[in-house]
Amino acid sequence: MDDVLDCLGAERCTMTSVEAQEWMAETLVVSKAVEGVPIAPGIHCNQCHYSAKNKRVMKNHISKLHKGASWGEVVSEGMVQVVFKGRLEKYILVEELEMEVESNTGR
Ligand SMILES: [Zn+2]
Repeated sequence: MDDVLDCLGAERCTMTSVEAQEWMAETLVVSKAVEGVPIAPGIHCNQCHYSAKNKRVMKNHISKLHKGASWGEVVSEGMVQVVFKGRLEKYILVEELEMEVESNTGR
């Protein structure tokens, strides 16, 4: 079960699934976008830093984990990155978007 994941662009692509799960468990928010990973508009849970791209997923999350909380109370919009694909797919919130996203020519 040591399959290597397609993850985090070129630099960290050698994570095993166990490492990846550990990394995921402690990484919910990154202060800076992970290089090589696409950034997309998404939504973010203020209560536990869960991120998602899709409102249906977030609704499901709220009804499971924050019963009774209202959407506006818990959810804010933000930019997210999909750090893993497939069964470990997960979104993390990018706190600060540096403008390198726009000037991302070259390199
Ligand atoms: Zn939450």
